[in-house]
Amino acid sequence: MTNNKIGLDFFNKIINKDVIHFSKISGGCINECFKIESNQKKYFIKINSSFNPFNEEKNGLKLLESTNTFTIPKVYKVGVEKKTAFLLMEFIDSKIPSDDFWISFGYKLAKMHSHSNKFFGLDYNNYIGSLSQENTLHHDAIEFFINCRLLPQIRLISKSSNNKLFKRFDKLFSKLSEILPNDKPALIHGDLWNGNFMVDTSGAPVLVDPAVYYGSREIDIAMSKLFGGFSNKFYESYNETFPLEKDWQYRVDIWNLYPLLVHANLFGDSYLNKVNSTLKKFN
Ligand code: ADP
Repeated sequence: MTNNKIGLDFFNKIINKDVIHFSKISGGCINECFKIESNQKKYFIKINSSFNPFNEEKNGLKLLESTNTFTIPKVYKVGVEKKTAFLLMEFIDSKIPSDDFWISFGYKLAKMHSHSNKFFGLDYNNYIGSLSQENTLHHDAIEFFINCRLLPQIRLISKSSNNKLFKRFDKLFSKLSEILPNDKPALIHGDLWNGNFMVDTSGAPVLVDPAVYYGSREIDIAMSKLFGGFSNKFYESYNETFPLEKDWQYRVDIWNLYPLLVHANLFGDSYLNKVNSTLKKFN
């Protein structure tokens, strides 16, 4: 809900210029987002008066930018004003994706995923939605996925659903080394659903709202399948550039246990139905 401290004064203080107009932007799940316009420029601003995830978001955007693959919006300023955290960025005007867009998106993601690291994880924790995302460094892809992705979310699931769920997950954990590939750590976006990319006016793909870390690259591919909205051209182009291991489609549901648990914790237990059907499928 819009907080009544948020108005022209608030935005003027942040951009130090004369704001002539501001309007709310929907589509985000966690923060309040606005377009702000001054005589010279348009800005995109995210605000949050409950917690401050924006230093981690800024660092994530910088890490993605350092790969020289995708267009990433410039971050102008991160701070706190009237007890409200904010992230002020370049405003991206967007348009409808073309076939060339999807080909370029698949190619660029493959190139971004070829950026590797010694360990899975990251040297700082960040956020997935409003939940903390643990990035403790691990040598092993599967141990990282269990310890830092699945277990912290399972622990947050309400107690009544927890016991049965824990048992099913325990059974799955013992099988994961036979199911999941032992990929190298890849720099991934970490929350690659169709609300977290844009098409700029030149038709190029832009990534926003990352939850970055070095993880298994199939995690981004799986997330892109969770709510759909990605063209087949995207997968073809990715696979031509950096082929996925055989039977990657079979593993999509396993990787998506993480975002589904996150959704259950953020938005309600109905997301556990899909978690349970995946667990039954693989148990
Ligand atoms: P949240 O952190 O609340 O999930 P997002 O970062 O996903 O918010 O932003 C919400 C929506 O705003 C996105 O789905 C996208 O459409 C739009 N958006 C994000 N970044 C920009 C930007 N730099 N310029 C213009 N629109 C943006």
